[in-house]
Amino acid sequence: MNRVSSWGRLSDAEHSVVAITSAADAPAIIASTAPGIARGMERSYGDVALNAGGTLWDMRPLNRFLAFDAESGILTVEPGVLLRDIQATFSRQGWMLAVTPGTEIVTVAGAIANDVHGKNHATRGTFADHVVSITLVRTDGEVIVCGPDDEPEGRGWFEATCGGLGLTGLIVQASIRLKRVPGPWLLAEDVAYQSLPEFFELSDSSELSYEHVVSWIDITTGGGRRGILSRANPAASPHRAPPAAGTPLGAAAGGITFPLVPPVSLVNTLTLPLLNRAYYRLKRAGVGSKVVHYKPFFYPLDAIQEWNRAYGPRGFYQYQCVLPRESGLESVREILRLVARSGQGSFLGVLKTLGDREPLGMLSFARPGVNLTIDFPNLGASTLVLMASLDSVVAEHGGRLYLAKDARMPASLFEAGYPRLEEFTAYRDPGISSELSRRLLGS
Ligand SMILES: Cc1cc2nc3c(=O)[nH]c(=O)nc-3n(C[C@H](O)[C@H](O)[C@H](O)COP(=O)(O)OP(=O)(O)OC[C@H]3O[C@@H](n4cnc5c(N)ncnc54)[C@H](O)[C@@H]3O)c2cc1C
Repeated sequence: MNRVSSWGRLSDAEHSVVAITSAADAPAIIASTAPGIARGMERSYGDVALNAGGTLWDMRPLNRFLAFDAESGILTVEPGVLLRDIQATFSRQGWMLAVTPGTEIVTVAGAIANDVHGKNHATRGTFADHVVSITLVRTDGEVIVCGPDDEPEGRGWFEATCGGLGLTGLIVQASIRLKRVPGPWLLAEDVAYQSLPEFFELSDSSELSYEHVVSWIDITTGGGRRGILSRANPAASPHRAPPAAGTPLGAAAGGITFPLVPPVSLVNTLTLPLLNRAYYRLKRAGVGSKVVHYKPFFYPLDAIQEWNRAYGPRGFYQYQCVLPRESGLESVREILRLVARSGQGSFLGVLKTLGDREPLGMLSFARPGVNLTIDFPNLGASTLVLMASLDSVVAEHGGRLYLAKDARMPASLFEAGYPRLEEFTAYRDPGISSELSRRLLGS
């Protein structure tokens, strides 16, 4: 048995970890060790890849590139290949992932199972929009190959598996379509904003001419009174010399590690306003456009490995919701008001709009609207009470929470937010079970 935590470090339970080292052996191994759930890099914040006291199928050893077609950009990989390795290998050849989340230290299968999104949802959709085919192994030994262009049956398996939280079977192979880029560079710009209406205007106008748009928001000010919007486009070639080692790029590539778990969270009521103010001033001082490597723009948090330790031994929650655009101003303002009044939160507040496209996966998160993400140190009951009050706003406005980040949402909010849930249920593998599935979908 091994102790396993997810990224939020809210628990540290024993698991029976079974390494999957060959796709050919996977059917026999999972049949004999079920029920269980697959794990990737455990970069999900909550309990989607946990199974306390039970089996975890560790997919990380299956990490080889299998084929690449330089005409179409289609890359076939084993499930445990890291997005980091795809970006590093192929950006030099003029290809990159079309969609990437805010960390590259995740596996391809993890990205499919949560159908992750990036800073370019309006133009590129979610990860699943670029998956060409998936090979799935079920605990009864059945092998299913499915893709978006299949007849209804295969398409059903595909839509259930993308965003399907690992519950439809084990992904043992995937083909994804990379996108052409001029190289590993972006022309990026930071712009300060001083109100929520200004954020929405700036975000809308930016999306007309920038592929990547995201904003940091100071969650301590109550009404969203300051933030920094970052936007970028792929750049042909660096307009200046590449950054030297030791610059943010060097740090991101090599990485510094947060040294230890402090006895209490370093993010607290004393440090919170200071951290936010300091971050705002730092970013505002650097507004303007510049050519940057993709790492500091796409993955700023990867520069400090294990930064999640900063929240201390009790860990932290991430609250991520998407709210319909029509009432987005009102609902985001209400959530920020509740958060500021509570004095809880962190310096990680992200506000971005999601494009006008419904996701392909039955349980995919990224629907049209406005996305708000906030980290909360786990203070116990007071944090749960605060998040329950945020749930009420999300429910009232018809929003949904992101399952990859969740460790506690009530089943009623889940059911209201995911209208294709019943359709999904037919595709579940009865030999697969996670803490999240038991909590929200029944065993
Ligand atoms: C700093 C940071 C920034 C992030 N930014 C974003 C963001 O911008 N957008 C976004 O969408 N997400 C974001 N995330 C969340 C992260 O991208 C997802 O949680 C991702 O799914 C994690 O992948 P993983 O390899 O760690 O998988 P895990 O967390 O280990 O597992 C995730 C899911 O994948 C399933 N799974 C894993 N392998 C397999 C397999 N072979 N077959 C079937 N199922 C499998 C698991 O069962 C589980 O359901 C961020 C996370 C961090 C830590």
